[in-house]
Amino acid sequence: MVGKNDHKSMGQNVPWLFVFLIFPERDVFMIIVMESQATEAQIEQVGQKLKEKGFQVHLSKGVERTIIGAIGERTQATQDLVETLPGVEKVVPIAQPFKMASKQFKPERTVIKVGDQSFGSEQLQIIAGPCAVEGRAKLIEVALAVKEAGATMLRGGAFKPRTSPYSFQGMEMEGLEILAEARQITGLPVVTEIMDPRQIDEVASLVDILQVGARNMQNFFLLRELGKIKRPILLKRGPSATIEEWIMAAEYIISSGNPEVIMCERGIRSFEHYTRNTLDLSAVPVIKNLTHLPVIVDPSHGTGKWKLVEPMSMAAIGAGADGLMIEVHQNPSEALSDGPQSLTPENFAKLVGKIKKLHALLHNDGEQ
Ligand code: PEP
Ligand code: MN
Repeated sequence: MVGKNDHKSMGQNVPWLFVFLIFPERDVFMIIVMESQATEAQIEQVGQKLKEKGFQVHLSKGVERTIIGAIGERTQATQDLVETLPGVEKVVPIAQPFKMASKQFKPERTVIKVGDQSFGSEQLQIIAGPCAVEGRAKLIEVALAVKEAGATMLRGGAFKPRTSPYSFQGMEMEGLEILAEARQITGLPVVTEIMDPRQIDEVASLVDILQVGARNMQNFFLLRELGKIKRPILLKRGPSATIEEWIMAAEYIISSGNPEVIMCERGIRSFEHYTRNTLDLSAVPVIKNLTHLPVIVDPSHGTGKWKLVEPMSMAAIGAGADGLMIEVHQNPSEALSDGPQSLTPENFAKLVGKIKKLHALLHNDGEQ
């Protein structure tokens, strides 16, 4: 029901509504492509001028040239002014909603280093481990098994986002300490999910990569806080997020100061109920075409069925994924969460053998 005062305030807002309709959203981002021989002083001068005009400035230093991203209200006059500065090759307004994640802003692919491993290079990353940390002995046993089978990183949830508040919620801080110990014993870098911004510092001090789960993909406050730390972020796609919304979530992290975002396709909700989710593998080449970020695939959550994990892993590598995230449990029928989609260590070892062969064939490197 519309109250008396609501009418009044609607009336007052009408002129603003017209202004909005007449002047649709203005360009808020442009990139300044510097000449390949541009000097540091010229780059500095362009940055300075943009700041004077009220822009926020982000540098992307490539091997060939520097690109400056400028966030603010772009007018033709500012664009003309910047174009006359020495060292500037061209100014390009970016129309699409994601800016710093886009290939235009950074034409070279982002390579994210984690110890001696990296995402986004020719290296294949296989992150494996249980859905949740269930205890010290169990985690260390499965961590050693996945390492032996060829996993390059260990996963395990200490904080679990469960649909039901009555389901196992994870071992929380104790789980984190167990993960840190498994990291020390195996030497494998560790990936775990972060749900609460208040725990970021503690989690970041114990693990190598912080995972944003599908359910939190649009928790903008969490994303902004993760933009302030120096740890790679594994950003899962929301169960009903479009690719654009997913890239915008990455944009939140990058624009807050952390460029190290690894995208992870984990299936979306569709009308199909045979599988837990519908694994959208077309997202892999789309992310590669639109952004400079690495992208991996999680066929465990993507299908919900362990028998589908191997074929969909092969398909993911075929589609160009930089890696996989796979749930492994020593006894899936007794797992506290996601048993039906978990591989035994033996099946995981078989999968790794096949995946490495396929990756080597596609990337012509013989070593993987
Ligand atoms: C997980 O990786 O255990 C998890 C909860 O994944 P998602 O957020 O993709 O459901
Ligand atoms: Mn899981």
